[in-house]
Amino acid sequence: MAKKKVKSSAPKKKKRPQIPRSVQLKLWVLSAGRCQFRGCNKPLWKDGLTLQEANYSNIGHIVSWTETGPRGDSRKSSKLATDFKNLMLVCSAHNKTIDDKKLVDKYPVKLLTEFKKEHEDRIRTLCNIRESDKSHVLILKGKIGSHQIEIDESDAYQAILPRYPADEAGIHIDLTSISSDSTEFWSSCVSEIKQIVDRHLNVRNDRQKIKHLSVFAFAPMPILLKLGQILGDKISADLFQYHRTTQSWLWPQSDSSAPGFTLKCIKKGSTKDVRLILSLSGKIGAEETLPLVPGDSSVYEITIPSPNPLFLQSKNHIANFKEIYWKAISEIQSEHGADSVIHLFPAIPLTIAIECGRSILPKVHPKIKIYDKDVKHGGFRYIFDLVD
Ligand SMILES: [Zn+2]
Repeated sequence: MAKKKVKSSAPKKKKRPQIPRSVQLKLWVLSAGRCQFRGCNKPLWKDGLTLQEANYSNIGHIVSWTETGPRGDSRKSSKLATDFKNLMLVCSAHNKTIDDKKLVDKYPVKLLTEFKKEHEDRIRTLCNIRESDKSHVLILKGKIGSHQIEIDESDAYQAILPRYPADEAGIHIDLTSISSDSTEFWSSCVSEIKQIVDRHLNVRNDRQKIKHLSVFAFAPMPILLKLGQILGDKISADLFQYHRTTQSWLWPQSDSSAPGFTLKCIKKGSTKDVRLILSLSGKIGAEETLPLVPGDSSVYEITIPSPNPLFLQSKNHIANFKEIYWKAISEIQSEHGADSVIHLFPAIPLTIAIECGRSILPKVHPKIKIYDKDVKHGGFRYIFDLVD
């Protein structure tokens, strides 16, 4: 009896207002016809399994069109019922999820608004890509001691956005099979790099010429210096490195103030030999470098207030470094002559190593000798000349 009474006194069920065609169209276009639930991205114009084409979309309300519905609101519900800002294009599973009575508290208005915005921003970014934004992805894999990291192509493609890969294959240099115990290790690595870079970069056909590179590299410091020198700075390039804290190749910050690079002359010597110490990811004591360079050599240092491996947070920091590095080279050159020899002792992030190699102009700058920390025996050792 009681049940019957409630039914008869209940207000007449309201009909969901028709969403205007223009709003539906805008939803389809700005979502690119894909589910806007975070992480789903399912195409809604076809069945992913049978490939049958049909309209599989659902239009979900962030604030329900009735005040008693999911996230309903006495003031907003009727006002926002057909408002584009309040609507999401979703697949049927996620339409059910966001409106499920048991789950509705997990999906408040703020979170769903974020889902919608993120999705629409991503589509907008991808659609803004121009022909000139294409980049050739160069991946160099090597071992540092026994340490090796996988460089996944899809991670690289994600990191270069808003640029896009010029071709699916990319340019790959794999040095992991070259044994570091071999006496030929350094020369084998260098000849492999030269051969592959030459094949891809020295293309005569203008249409196939590489105009931009995105470089992802993991290898010992001397190899990266050499890679930079072989690539040169004629082709513009973005450099990426793996960030352990975020476990990603994306730069943690898009913009941040310079790390405070300083250049100082620690000791003025009488010979043409100059030790240039780069104390950035760690501190190198001048005394560590002394036994390797004979005679009364000068010592210069580029450093930051607290050298540490995580200081490099943004790609702008590489440009900041380049400025002080060039200043150091030109100061050494004017103080000690064009025939001076720079002995380079690096404790630097991998991308800075590549930049150090790229920035050197063989005919203009002094000769540079590269040293590296000997992981097995400790201390530094001479590896090779940057330009042979
Ligand atoms: Zn979905």
